[in-house]
Amino acid sequence: MIFDTHAHYLSHRFDSDRAELLSSLPGKGVCAVVECGVDLDTSRAAAALAHEFPFVYAAAGIHPESLIDEDTSTVARFAGDWRAELREIKPLLEDGRVVAVGECGLDHHWPVPRDAQLELLEAQLILAREHDLPVLLHDREAHAEMYELLRKHRPRGVLHCYSGSADDAKWLCAQGLYLGFGGTATFKNARRVLEAASVVPEEQFVLETDCPYMAPEPMRGKRNDSSLIAYVAEAIASARGTTAAHILEVSERNARRLFGLDA
Ligand SMILES: [Zn+2]
Repeated sequence: MIFDTHAHYLSHRFDSDRAELLSSLPGKGVCAVVECGVDLDTSRAAAALAHEFPFVYAAAGIHPESLIDEDTSTVARFAGDWRAELREIKPLLEDGRVVAVGECGLDHHWPVPRDAQLELLEAQLILAREHDLPVLLHDREAHAEMYELLRKHRPRGVLHCYSGSADDAKWLCAQGLYLGFGGTATFKNARRVLEAASVVPEEQFVLETDCPYMAPEPMRGKRNDSSLIAYVAEAIASARGTTAAHILEVSERNARRLFGLDA
């Protein structure tokens, strides 16, 4: 069965058919989806979605890009005061359907102020520890600073859409982290991702879509959804010399262990 550890079904790209599509997923082999918030509004909506669909779980947190995205509650309602916003996210972490803090992380691809995003991530790592929850981490072009914070706080969680080297993957797994693999594992230039995927211990990889983004080959460029993880499992299976069924089974077991969910 497919366990999608990282999705954004609240994206406007699902506005026309969200309920219909989500309802169709269990029939396509999907057993669980973690919907990630990126600000207070989407974290609340993710929790609501998780109460509506029995196979959906939620993550609540603030994405670094939300600090500069005018469409987020971080900018539109809190005028960048992420501390105030995080105070309102905190009660969501007591909701049994909220299984992680995130999506949080560091992003140097977009011009997000450096100090603010470092402080924001650190605050969320502390919050996750206080609530004994894993974190869903976004690391875009910020490996050095991310690894420094991981060393300092030693969180439980997933580095999502893993894009680093095989050596870094080994180090991260030695820290106890899980690595999330998605559509990029199927792309034509996936050699580096697959090298990393092949060195991750069997207990520490999970699968994800990051939908609506990152649709795998042969659907690249189209809208992604959790059922397409089947293609990712095939790519990772061939890199690891095993079957897609085995990859799906192991990644589901890993995700359940990480999020504390029974089979
Ligand atoms: Zn994401």
